[in-house]
Formats: sequence, C-alpha cells, structure tokens
Amino acid sequence: MEAQGKHTVFIAIGSNLLDREKNIKDAISNLKKEGIEVEAISSIIETEPYGFIDQPKFLNCVVKAKTTKTPRELLKTLLSIELKLGRIRKERWGPRTIDLDILFYDDLIIDEEDLKIPHYDIQNRLFVLKPLSEIAGDFIHPVFKVSINELLNNLIKKESHEDSNLER
Ligand code: ATP
Ligand code: MG
Ligand code: MG
Repeated sequence: MEAQGKHTVFIAIGSNLLDREKNIKDAISNLKKEGIEVEAISSIIETEPYGFIDQPKFLNCVVKAKTTKTPRELLKTLLSIELKLGRIRKERWGPRTIDLDILFYDDLIIDEEDLKIPHYDIQNRLFVLKPLSEIAGDFIHPVFKVSINELLNNLIKKESHEDSNLER
C-alpha cells in the first residue's frame, strides 16, 4: 500500500469513432468525477489502427492518476465510463468510441482471465509507448524490469528491422 492508501495508475485512452477528441476529453472528465485524481496527461496522437486494420484512425493518449480504488474497482469504473460514453462492444480491436485500459497499477502484477496488469501488450504498441514515455519515460515495467524509454527504443528498432526486411 502506498502513502495514504493512494495508488499510482496509468490508463491508456483510445477513440476512433465520432468526435474522437471530445470522447477522450469526456473520458478524462469522467475519471475525475469518479474521484480519480488525474496528475498528468500526455499529448494526444493520431495512430493507425492496430489488429483489425480496416477501420478509421485512432486518437490515443495516456493519463497518470492517483486512486484509492482497488484494481478491480478501477476496472469496473473504466468499463462503466466506456458504456456511458456509448461504447458498443463488438469485436475485439474493432472501432470504438472509447477504450480505457489499465496499463500499470503501482508495480503490481495481476494475471487473471479478465484482468491483466501490466496490460499484456504495452511492449508491442507504439501508440501506448510514445505517449507513456512523455509522462513516465523512467518508469520500470514490473515484469520486464526495463524502463518505458527502453521498451520504446526496442520497439522502434524492431519495427525498422521489419520494414527493411519487407523491402528486400
Ligand atoms: P486490448 O486489451 O488488446 O487493448 P481491447 O482494449 O479492445 O483490446 P476490450 O474489449 O476493451 O479489449 O476489453 C476486453 C476485456 O479485457 C475487458 O472486459 C477486461 O475484462 C479485460 N482486461 C484485462 N486486462 C485489462 C486491463 N489491464 N485493462 C482493461 N481491461 C482489461
Ligand atoms: Mg485496448
Ligand atoms: Mg480495453
């Protein structure tokens, strides 16, 4: 338990439907309404879709916050904000008005069917690592034991290798 029972969390926010910027801003104000103390917000970047690629581009950002909620309470809150902002869950990785994912919760590790912390795919996602590195470049990933900046640099290297392989 951290000082005063408050935990530091990082939340990834993404939207690729309707007014994407408004959706992200609404999500952040809803976090605050739920008593989640937003401490830092990365810049909002536009990114190509990931996974199911035949869909509109995303806006993504990452928020750093403090909360007294447990990981499960936090997940429940995020899912309720998604519903409130009109997210209709169809296929995974499909278009959505809003996606709120827990990236980190202190340096806790949880590996359950419906809740994995750290988020299982941070290391493969530029749209997460780029904004995260702006506000938490030195944060150490509790599973990989390397910093966000290192994960970002590794992924950039890996992707530039893949590009040059394709060109051959
Ligand atoms: P991805 O998880 O690959 O980014 P997604 O965000 O589109 O895909 P969702 O449809 O938003 O997936 O979520 C499916 C389920 O993932 C949620 O109902 C939730 O139970 C589960 N889940 C597991 N770990 C997390 C986490 N760290 N943050 C948010 N949801 C999580
Ligand atoms: Mg997601
Ligand atoms: Mg999600």
